[in-house]
Amino acid sequence: MSYANSVIQKIQTIYPDQIEFHQAVKEVLHSIEPALKKDSRYEKFKVLDRIVIPERQINFRVTWEDDKGEIQVNRGYRIEFSSLLGPYKGGLRFHPSVCEGTIKFLGFEQIFKNALTGLAMGGGKGGSDFDPKGKSDREVMRFCQAFMNELYRHIGAHTDVPAGDIGVGGREIGYLFGQYKKLTNRYEGVLTGKSLLWGGSLVRTEATGYGSVYFAQEMLEHSDFDGLEGKICLVSGSGNVAIYTVEKLQQLGAKPVTISDSKGFIYDESGIDLALLKEIKEIKRESLESYAKAKKSAKWISIKDYPKDHNPLWAIPAYAAFPSATQNELNAKDAENLLKNGCKCVSEGANMPSTIEAVHKFLDAKICYGPGKAANAGGVATSGLEMSQNASMTSWTFEEVDKKLHNIMRHIYASASQTAKEFGEPTNLVLGANIAGFRKVADAMIEQGL
Ligand code: GLU
Repeated sequence: MSYANSVIQKIQTIYPDQIEFHQAVKEVLHSIEPALKKDSRYEKFKVLDRIVIPERQINFRVTWEDDKGEIQVNRGYRIEFSSLLGPYKGGLRFHPSVCEGTIKFLGFEQIFKNALTGLAMGGGKGGSDFDPKGKSDREVMRFCQAFMNELYRHIGAHTDVPAGDIGVGGREIGYLFGQYKKLTNRYEGVLTGKSLLWGGSLVRTEATGYGSVYFAQEMLEHSDFDGLEGKICLVSGSGNVAIYTVEKLQQLGAKPVTISDSKGFIYDESGIDLALLKEIKEIKRESLESYAKAKKSAKWISIKDYPKDHNPLWAIPAYAAFPSATQNELNAKDAENLLKNGCKCVSEGANMPSTIEAVHKFLDAKICYGPGKAANAGGVATSGLEMSQNASMTSWTFEEVDKKLHNIMRHIYASASQTAKEFGEPTNLVLGANIAGFRKVADAMIEQGL
């Protein structure tokens, strides 16, 4: 059995229920096998055995009171996966599906994603099974305060710097920061994604979506395919990532025609109405169903009418696809549908949105496929830029940050693509991104000793 397979088997035995974590580990470990063969130090120093176990993992109880005065109990997590390249860095996810396996898969991905940015950031992730949907602002505030009452003792600007993810946006970061400050009496860059009024960075809100489109542009420019201008694009999700993917695509003259949420998806043949989307999601916090009510050209397809084996959003003919909702939202059948309809580019705004089988279809078809670890790294990269600005007590203009973000995305593409070429698979950015990220982390591990 290969070294990679023996480690995969080990984590499946130790953590039998953590299916998403197994998936993320398998994807990385299988694709880095050529690097393990080339450099025997990785096996000698047991780098894989070490990297799959978090340095530290905190599980805690969050108890808070809802508006009716009833006591609510949730589970909280912070997984400090790797501090080899810098302080633990990664978002917090608040969603009812969150369990230890989810946070571990996200934390594991984050290690290599952060390494690819070239900034000094280790990998971590956290969250809770709390569902912010349908909760009042006061309930969200009380939950965030209760969550921070435990988390504060583990984080700090030089140790662990959380940020947002699904269910955690500007509002939640505000309440979390307020409570951190109260508990520690320290005003520091302990969280990123902060408001522009008190330490946030311009472009952080837009960064993941913009970055994923910049990555798509890079892939297409270095291929024989056309650019995005005038092309129909599919976007899933309707959170921060999806909204700013739509915005950047429109700025470049492309035509995004879909967006989705947990209840279904919108197909707007005339192109997504960005102002309407922002109003529904950022201000009113409503379901996308109201988009269809407000706009005649839009069709609402409810999740109740989805076929069992595929997501009809990915069956709409388009040139490029931007999965920006959540993990495993795109399966092998969806990949077949995209390819059959002539899709030439997939850039992942979400973390691990494609199943392993779907990824293989994209790689076999040799289209431009940007795995999440590379394509959505713009979000955390801009968090890194927010940390730099906080540390030097300055703030850069929108143009300055956007330019830095664009350069980072170019750099990530270049290192993934060069590494893919080095290993004889020039179009395989999964292999390229994973090996490029892995080598940095693994070499740091060897250099830093036991
Ligand atoms: N949650 C984002 C991600 O998956 C951003 C993390 C951060 O900014 O620290 O990369």
